[in-house]
Amino acid sequence: MTGFKGFLFIVCCFIPGTFVFGNGEGKIEKLPNVVIVTTGGTIAEKKDPKTGASVPALSGDTLISAVPELKKLANIKVINFMNIDSSHMAPENWRKLSATVNDILKDPKVTGVVVTHGTDTMAEGAYFLDLTLDVNKPVVFVGAMRDASDPCPDGPANLLNAVIQVCSPDALNWGVTVTMNQYINSARDVRKVSTTNVQTFESGQKGYLGTIDMGKVYRINDRLGRLTFPLSAVLPDVAIVSAYSGADGKLLRYAVDSGAKGIVVEAMGAGNVNPPVYEAVKYAIGKGVAVVIASDVYYGRVLPLYGGEGGGATLEKDGAILAGDLPPRKARILLMLALSGAGNQDGLKAFFK
Ligand code: ASP
Repeated sequence: MTGFKGFLFIVCCFIPGTFVFGNGEGKIEKLPNVVIVTTGGTIAEKKDPKTGASVPALSGDTLISAVPELKKLANIKVINFMNIDSSHMAPENWRKLSATVNDILKDPKVTGVVVTHGTDTMAEGAYFLDLTLDVNKPVVFVGAMRDASDPCPDGPANLLNAVIQVCSPDALNWGVTVTMNQYINSARDVRKVSTTNVQTFESGQKGYLGTIDMGKVYRINDRLGRLTFPLSAVLPDVAIVSAYSGADGKLLRYAVDSGAKGIVVEAMGAGNVNPPVYEAVKYAIGKGVAVVIASDVYYGRVLPLYGGEGGGATLEKDGAILAGDLPPRKARILLMLALSGAGNQDGLKAFFK
């Protein structure tokens, strides 16, 4: 047993949740138990021969049969949770997925979980689980940018790396990660940055947590300040409304009047909106709706920097919560969970640092 196999043997001997398993070559090795929960996305899609467009196609078992190396790394169990394009994901799906993964992780024999998922909403789904899982074991979200009928699909290598990460003693205490194209991102900070390129996930100013090179995890950063919430039975309706140039605030008012319990405003720059949107924000706050100001800008934070009608400092003074460096879709998830437990405005604000 040499090289990469030797490395795997050493790794597997020192991680929790391993048990003795014959590898089919007459040797007895300890392998970790990894559960792969499949939800769909391009990694499980193929081109429809009639339309040429990608559609859900592969079951979890077919997905892993494309990567025979997985069996040498771990005892793999597959759970076909769902098979949808991730643009169809909704908070209720996240809630059920989180409950399922939490139950799996509670089994002391399980080392960790890989969730296969579409990339369009992977950053959101991963963050939801990061905020709601209460078992501290590795959970890796993974997908693909090229579907299974592509001449050069990225799914198999990504899946292999995800399992390598779950089995690695160098990848602990990171919470939920989004791991693709060899880069390991924290679920909190990751964003999709390219519509088609395989290098689509980045962590902005925070940087990657690590990389996976030639079957080994290299740690770059620790995960700091992870929040967790109990998983509530019902998630409140929280809308995202954009404050674009010339916006008149009517969509924001509509969200309030149609029952939203919270609104995330996708503001400009360091967290500013125009006067009509500012009036609509005050309308929402007056009706008891929590308003969070996030920014559409990729780098930096929302800050109480500008005064005047709709400036970040004025919005904060009037009771809006500034989202810090959380982008709008992540701020919405945090607000949904915080609203189900926080109670009052000060309680809510404390979560957005
Ligand atoms: N449309 C796909 C999705 O399910 C995109 C992908 O997976 O890369 O999000």
